[in-house]
Amino acid sequence: MVEKPETSTIYRKGFGLKEEVQAELAGDYRSLLVEEIRSRGNVLSAGDFTIHLAKEFGFCYGVERAVDYAYETRKRFPDRSIFLTTELIHNPRVNNCLREMGIGFLNGPGPKDKPIQEITSRDAVIIAAFGTRVDEMELLKQKGCILVDATCGSVVLVWKRVEQYARDGFTAVVHGNYRHEETRATVSRVTPFPGGKSLVVWDKPEAAQVCDYIKGQGGREAFLKQFSVKCSPGFDPDRDLQRVGVANQTTMLSSESLEIGRMLEAAVMERYGPEEAPKHFRNFDTICSATQDRQDAIMELIRGRVDLVIVIGGFNSSNTGHLCEMASQHVPAYHIDEASCILSDKQIRHKPAGRQATVVTEGWLPSGRVKIGITAGASTPNRVIGDAMERILQARGQSLEALGLSR
Ligand code: SF4
Repeated sequence: MVEKPETSTIYRKGFGLKEEVQAELAGDYRSLLVEEIRSRGNVLSAGDFTIHLAKEFGFCYGVERAVDYAYETRKRFPDRSIFLTTELIHNPRVNNCLREMGIGFLNGPGPKDKPIQEITSRDAVIIAAFGTRVDEMELLKQKGCILVDATCGSVVLVWKRVEQYARDGFTAVVHGNYRHEETRATVSRVTPFPGGKSLVVWDKPEAAQVCDYIKGQGGREAFLKQFSVKCSPGFDPDRDLQRVGVANQTTMLSSESLEIGRMLEAAVMERYGPEEAPKHFRNFDTICSATQDRQDAIMELIRGRVDLVIVIGGFNSSNTGHLCEMASQHVPAYHIDEASCILSDKQIRHKPAGRQATVVTEGWLPSGRVKIGITAGASTPNRVIGDAMERILQARGQSLEALGLSR
């Protein structure tokens, strides 16, 4: 007799233990300083300098839910080994807290980590907010383990769109980073559909190359070389660029995503003409509202004429990087991941927009009257933001105690 594989139990709504984990979450991530500044209209004046907090910053609804589920899972299954498919979110503080709670990572190098193949029915696995690939999900389902699915609803919406494209015979062209967990999970959605194809474009120059090909102006070899790791296996640009549907990683720069959508639409119009174009092109803006709100808020901050901007968040956080990119087009902008990046009132360690490595910049904090704008990516806890603000105050010789503020 052939044994039936075990099937995992999947939880998608938490365990109703929100109240029980509140104190722990507050202890790890809350900042009274941030709450105080919020209550003062997002402004803090101290001597001759002022801090302006963006209207929207920090934890988004998807991240709050994922972090909450992770803590609830630990509480609900105290005796099980628990693993994350990947970083729960892109923030080092959060991932360290989870490790300290005894949560390991699949395929990671840590002592509590485990290869996915070795997961058993006695384990629990938490799927990160970015979601996971179709093949990985199938494998986990067969393990018979507890599966806690913290995939953000906004990511699931993108998946539905991409699945529809594949079902209807359109190649999903995804504006995103092909290495990012979310984009890898998104493009995998086409794989269950016969002939389903995907292509990831990172920026406008890459989109222009796709447009040229659609218009019959591109070279096949050059195309395949450029996109070799960014397209589905067996991708044939002559066949697979005849019908394209555009989507994007939820955390991209929304203006760039919209522009890329328009570029591809124009290319399809030129190739097939306005009457036939709808049979060859579909588009849907899948930037999530939390990303959009934070991008709108940074522009509002800049219009308020701040002298510089500090952007706080993990260096591998896509949405944090884009906030820095937007700000740096108008004022000096410094992307830091922790308060310790503020080395002194003279030096700051930060990751410049569009670069991989951090650098140390001298003279970041002007003397005299100065307005500092502060924002943070969707995966940055208030505690990290509060610590960074305290460090900035210290750099100007101020202390929370003297200002009557709490930590
Ligand atoms: S940034 Fe958007 S898609 Fe990502 S977790 Fe937050 S709400 Fe969800």
